[in-house]
Amino acid sequence: MNMEIVPQVLSGMAWVLYGSLFEWYWHKEWMHKPRVPREAFRGHTLVHHQIYKVGESYVFEETGHPQHILLKPYALPAIVLVHLPILFLINYLIPHTFWGGLIAISGYFVVYEYCHWHMHVPRGHRIEKFRWFKYLAKHHELHHRYFQKNFCVLFPLADLVFGTLITEESLAKQKAAREAALAAGKLTTPTLASPTSRQEQRRNARKLRQMQKTQGLIEEFSTYRVKNNSKRRFRKDARLQKELVSASKDRE
Ligand SMILES: [Zn+2]
Ligand SMILES: [Zn+2]
Repeated sequence: MNMEIVPQVLSGMAWVLYGSLFEWYWHKEWMHKPRVPREAFRGHTLVHHQIYKVGESYVFEETGHPQHILLKPYALPAIVLVHLPILFLINYLIPHTFWGGLIAISGYFVVYEYCHWHMHVPRGHRIEKFRWFKYLAKHHELHHRYFQKNFCVLFPLADLVFGTLITEESLAKQKAAREAALAAGKLTTPTLASPTSRQEQRRNARKLRQMQKTQGLIEEFSTYRVKNNSKRRFRKDARLQKELVSASKDRE
């Protein structure tokens, strides 16, 4: 066997592990927080999550091609471009790792898009019959129910590592524990842990502001969807408005 293939394969495997971390981080920090550039937040929290919710609305019933599942067309080139210098540097330090890495990054992205599409647009495709796909589809459905859990779509390793992994079983366990505590009279109203330091107070305040901002945008979005003619609120954001109109047309 050509000995150059081994580091390429190992490199590919390492990049797949990194892929889980990357999708977790990007999804959590950019797609769910109104950060600059806002594109990721708009497309994901305001459009994707508002259209695909729990139960029946989790899947796209109609035929056709909804525009609000796949990422922007420039996402893959951007991801590759950002990682090229790192690939080159690693290849300089550990030869024969470049192509394995590049193939892994692009492959991860393509499979991510493919799976996420079939999760929301099930058409009885062969992939939907696999156990691993069914697991991932459930995993992602739970993310659509609990925004702050199950950030990984394709490879939930980072969810496991960072404690954001939930399953139906873990939820059932939590519920049972809560009910047991309630029955025993041990349950108190959940409050924010009283902050011990200034730093913690500031961090909490920042978190709260961000939550309110996100919630505000979601509420504005809902108002817009309910009264499709109240354009005033979104006049400033012509692009989002266009996206929302086409999204609701697709859906209704
Ligand atoms: Zn989704
Ligand atoms: Zn999300």
